[in-house]
Amino acid sequence: MVQLTITSAAGLAIAEYCRQKKARQDHDGQAKAFDLEELSKADIGSPIDHHDLLEISKYLVRNSKTSDEAVGPAAARAWRLDILLRGATVYQPPPPPKKEPTPEYKALMRRLRQQEEERQYERMINPVHPPETFGQRFPSAAYAFNPATSHGASAADEVDDVTYADVNRQMILIINVLISIITCSVFIWVAARRWSVPSRLGLSMSGSGLVAAAEVAIYMGYIRRLNDARQKEVKKVEQKEIVETWVLLSTLLRIKIATLMMAPTDYHHPYQPYDIQQQFMDAMYACIEDGNVGIFESPTGTGKSLSLICSSLTWLREHKRKEFDEGVAAIDVDDDEPDWMAEHARDARQREMRQMREDLEARLQSVREREDRARERHANVEPQHKRRKVALDAELTLAQEDEQYMLDEYESEDDRTKPGSGTKSEYSTETTKLMERLGMIQTKKQDSADVDIDELKVFFCSRTHSQLSQFVGELQRVKLPPGMPPEPNATAPSDDTQAPEPVKQLSLGSRKNLCINPKVTKLGNQTAINERCIELQQSSTPAEHKCPFLPNKENEDLVLDFRDHALAKIRDIEDLANVGARLAICPYYASRPAIGQAEMVTLPYPLLLQKSARDALGISVKGHVVVIDEAHNLMNAIEGIYSTQISETQLRLARESLMVYLQRFRNRLKGSNRVYVTQVVRIIDSLLSFISTLGGVAATGGTLEPGQLLAGKAVDQVNLSKLVRYISDSKLARKVEGYASTVTAAQSVLTARTKAVQTTSDVPTLTHLQNFLMTLMNPSAEGRFFWSKEENTTIVRYMLLDPSEHFRDIVRDARAVILAGGTMSPMDDYKQQLFPYLTSLETFSCGHLIPAGNLLVRSIAADGEGALELNYKSRDTFTFTRIGKALLAIAPYVRGGLVVFMPSYGFLEQVAESWRSQSIAADLQKHKPIFWDSRAGSAEATFKAYSEAITAGQKGAVLLSVIGGKLSEGINFSDDLGRCVVVVGLPFPNLHTPEWKAKMQYIDSKAMARGEPKGKASREHAENVCMRSVNQAIGRVIRHKDDWASIILMDSRYTQQRIRAKLPGWMKESAPSDSPTNVQKVAEDVRGFFSRKG
Ligand code: SF4
Repeated sequence: MVQLTITSAAGLAIAEYCRQKKARQDHDGQAKAFDLEELSKADIGSPIDHHDLLEISKYLVRNSKTSDEAVGPAAARAWRLDILLRGATVYQPPPPPKKEPTPEYKALMRRLRQQEEERQYERMINPVHPPETFGQRFPSAAYAFNPATSHGASAADEVDDVTYADVNRQMILIINVLISIITCSVFIWVAARRWSVPSRLGLSMSGSGLVAAAEVAIYMGYIRRLNDARQKEVKKVEQKEIVETWVLLSTLLRIKIATLMMAPTDYHHPYQPYDIQQQFMDAMYACIEDGNVGIFESPTGTGKSLSLICSSLTWLREHKRKEFDEGVAAIDVDDDEPDWMAEHARDARQREMRQMREDLEARLQSVREREDRARERHANVEPQHKRRKVALDAELTLAQEDEQYMLDEYESEDDRTKPGSGTKSEYSTETTKLMERLGMIQTKKQDSADVDIDELKVFFCSRTHSQLSQFVGELQRVKLPPGMPPEPNATAPSDDTQAPEPVKQLSLGSRKNLCINPKVTKLGNQTAINERCIELQQSSTPAEHKCPFLPNKENEDLVLDFRDHALAKIRDIEDLANVGARLAICPYYASRPAIGQAEMVTLPYPLLLQKSARDALGISVKGHVVVIDEAHNLMNAIEGIYSTQISETQLRLARESLMVYLQRFRNRLKGSNRVYVTQVVRIIDSLLSFISTLGGVAATGGTLEPGQLLAGKAVDQVNLSKLVRYISDSKLARKVEGYASTVTAAQSVLTARTKAVQTTSDVPTLTHLQNFLMTLMNPSAEGRFFWSKEENTTIVRYMLLDPSEHFRDIVRDARAVILAGGTMSPMDDYKQQLFPYLTSLETFSCGHLIPAGNLLVRSIAADGEGALELNYKSRDTFTFTRIGKALLAIAPYVRGGLVVFMPSYGFLEQVAESWRSQSIAADLQKHKPIFWDSRAGSAEATFKAYSEAITAGQKGAVLLSVIGGKLSEGINFSDDLGRCVVVVGLPFPNLHTPEWKAKMQYIDSKAMARGEPKGKASREHAENVCMRSVNQAIGRVIRHKDDWASIILMDSRYTQQRIRAKLPGWMKESAPSDSPTNVQKVAEDVRGFFSRKG
């Protein structure tokens, strides 16, 4: 097959062919079927198969002959093949596209180019002296070759490019030849001295002539060989062999190394830090400096809090100094101004900035001194500050009390300004203006660039206020140099000699923690306090009923005074509430102006993790450092914050309460109130109707679609977003529940079960409904709806399956994010589940302070019966007996507390039943008294009894508890309370629940999108969740540097490398992979360990 180029005649023929074929719909029965669409697109010059052209030509010639007798023959001639081929050439396909060079080749070329550039640059800055030419060497010789003066015109035409070295070489060669000729002729002349003179002369001349000819021949041969070699070299394909490779350090790594080299040697730690603390602080400092996200693990008892404080605040103060210097250096004046002007401007700015800082410090110092004096005078009993007479509301009369539950008139206009958390419309105009001025609520101006002072700060976040209080206690010990460099002419030249500058710290909390209005705090629960507080500030509330502690025009100076008090000393949330009470100003609102000037803000999880809470408090983490402590719970906390649920019992309670309420206020409810309350009932009925369909279902849970929940009668006519706003704005939940609870105290209106829910719940059930409806309106793509039957009720819940998206804005805005905890292993899980979008994540796991001899870690993988794998299938009496016997082998050697963690309460109950039915429990009791944790019992009471038994007796005690249970987190098993901890089995979550199935599916779908095999990522996550709870439980036993304990992991799976890799770094060191795994051998090791400990 030959491909030809299409000529213009062929192009016309093709076009005509296509036209005719289309017109006739191909009734000619031609053998070959062309793709007419494709053919009609063929251009002149493009290829065509010569067979195709032949077919076309034949077709056109045949049809032309039959079509028109007059013009037919002429047309047929025009379509003849020889005409169509005239000017055509054999088509040469374009060369195939060049293959993409390999990355190695590209890297090599890049490197060579870079080297060449470097050489060029080197040549540019260090030019090589050009080689001296003959003309330069012999300048007068130029005259001899000057065309004007020389007779050798042809020589003068040549460019003088012969160098001195070339001439030198040629001269030496000629001289050599001459010397050898002369030497040869002299030699022959002397050797033939007996010959006649003419003979001698002839002989010596011919001899020297021969020598000369030989030398010339040799030289020419040499030159020819050189030329051949050069030509061969040119023809030869260059082969470059890689003889050495090297890696250029990435910019990040270079910065990091530089940072580590620059890392401070003094973190102002109140004690001499241990090596592991120093390493922790170095790594954290580098992580903050690089602006990275890092996970830091430091076991309990290794001074984690102080390490976190010292490294973050040392970085902060140093960064502030650097910024100060850079800010001053950046001040510039016009080019045409003299240097002294710039110098003067810099000095002025420096003075101004120093003055501002000194003013603040002086103000805070005076507050400190005042407080100290007050303390000396026992001013806490009778505060120095003149207490403002605060008139609280008189007690409400009964009639008023009834009236307070009446719903206010409600306007449902969409454009009506919404009262609510943190928005300024909830306050009177006067209050709003004042709060804006004091920076207590955000204004547009504050959102823009010219915000008030926003000091660089560290947001330190932990789970509970008690953890934050402990942290604040540690913070009080740290003394840091000022955040401003010493004045150039100051006498104190170094950090060490500068007086420390107190850290400006602020504790943030909710209204429940900070409210000082006794009439509001007595409500007890968070929601009620929030609602009541907002209600008391509304412009519709009479002045005498407003909260007297709320900032207003009269107490404006108190707000500023409070701000200074808050920053003057390091205080926990309780101290801050006391300051507010002493000054008679609301600490919840008055602490907001202090946020800008604080260097360290401590706050609990929900205030940081919830965007709405951050917005309400006016917190922005942009450019600041975020440190999250106890972060092993972080993913669960985020999922918990964004997950909602409501139970059938709660729905019934809400409905019954609404009915009770309507009986009393039905006739008084008008307009919008009546419409919306009816809609709430309709929604509840729809949810209950869905739940009733689950009654006959054998399953105990499953997933559901949001539409299933809202399939009730006329529910599609309800505008959910308006309804949710109504429930919130009208305080319907609080009013309905408040009224219902007052009447049910006297009448038995509600059912016993719903009353139980009402009395135990902290949040009104209608608020649960409101939260659930909010999620229902706008569920995020990372969550799913589920239902499950639990404890005689059915629960519908929305669960967030992926916490990463909700944490992403913090990671994006903050300069650096540090997640810290005592047991963060296995850390891979954070990478996959919390930061899948990050390309780099720093991890640091530090060892323990205890010496190696203070810890014994062993796995029990087998006993006399064989391998011991305690999976779900092997839960039977035989297995429970084997577990009991293994404990009986170890218990006699353990002095002090023996803590046994089982995988679940169900497992523990089965074990207890089995052991009691045999003699195992009794046999164990002979060695030590046994204490059982239980689902229903009080964990505190059990722990107290266990501790007392250890303190009182010589034998110690056994505590049987559950991983992830009430005694596995937050309880301290230091010293004798935990000399041996045994973890029985691997506490995998129940992967058969609808929630876990959905979660596993979700994780797998994301992993498969990344190209990972199905099932790998979800299995990994389940193992990580399991091992995190194991690590958390065993981390309870070593609590300080002198503590010692043994850790026994009872399950053959603990010997697998994959599982071992998920243990904390400090434990792995004490668990060599070749250590014995048989019960008897492990018991021997335990005996040896305790005998070594005396
Ligand atoms: S303004 Fe402050 S003190 Fe008054 S009710 Fe609200 S939180 Fe409590």
